[in-house]
Amino acid sequence: MKLYSGEWQTTIDRDLVLSGTGVHSGKSVSIILHPAEPDAGWTFVVSNGKGRTVRIPADFRMVSNATLCTVLSDGKGAIVATVEHLLAALRGLNIDNIEIEIDGNEVPIMDGSAAAFVDAIDEAGICMLDEPRRWIKILKPVRIESGGSSAELRPHHSSRFDVTIDFETPLIGRQRLDIDLTPSVFRKEISRARTFGFMKDVKALWAAGRALGSSLENTVALGEDRILNPEGLRYKNEFVRHKTLDAVGDLALAGAPILGSYHSVRGGHRINTMILSALYENRSAWTIVEAESRYSPSTGHADTGYAMAQPFFAAVDRG
Ligand SMILES: [Zn+2]
Repeated sequence: MKLYSGEWQTTIDRDLVLSGTGVHSGKSVSIILHPAEPDAGWTFVVSNGKGRTVRIPADFRMVSNATLCTVLSDGKGAIVATVEHLLAALRGLNIDNIEIEIDGNEVPIMDGSAAAFVDAIDEAGICMLDEPRRWIKILKPVRIESGGSSAELRPHHSSRFDVTIDFETPLIGRQRLDIDLTPSVFRKEISRARTFGFMKDVKALWAAGRALGSSLENTVALGEDRILNPEGLRYKNEFVRHKTLDAVGDLALAGAPILGSYHSVRGGHRINTMILSALYENRSAWTIVEAESRYSPSTGHADTGYAMAQPFFAAVDRG
């Protein structure tokens, strides 16, 4: 059994425990990642606050808020917040099936990037399963615009992310990143980029009792004219890399990897999840395919073509 191919579904080899701080509550929180069966997808297991545990699938239709971070809810009071960096790591490393048990209501922020999740998954090991991976193949462009932001999915032969950000402050300015998402690109180019925020906004959030766990340990903080973290940036364009990380995590809520290119200009969690609703509503704009069962030892993954999957992927087409 090989560790990774683009063709077969995967899970992790063993349970994994991670502890950290919830960026919004400021409380310590632990998560346990459990291996899951083929076609199980990703499920959060959280408390509903009334002594019961609730299962919330990682699905864009469960998004209840996407203002500061991406929040999923069962619609009956159980929530799980800040899911995007963990989901980015799962999608980035091609982990298809996993159960995420949390003893709180948010995924720990760790260092503000996906690095800790990637390291933990690498340490546990990735296990290949006996079912082929299924993809959402984009057949026609789908575009949305909202308040100076835009997002578009277009047909493409790989999973591509083309992200542009544009901030007035010269500390960020206009930055663009255009990548083909593979596990090695995710590890090297995306996973270590940290979340960022403006000090004046953080102070307002603190005053409102929010973002209580955010600190220079997990956020790149921008002052009036300088970056406040003593260690500086991890990459010159760490900001657009992090926005790409967020886009990978938010689009992971589609329920399967996307075979297509995603173009985002001045985007964020809200528009990243809106494009999935727009795609889902436009039934002729996508189909479900699976990699043909031909493993290519030379490239390490099946890039020889995709066949129509039968039957349709239940997690995506159950609406
Ligand atoms: Zn983020």
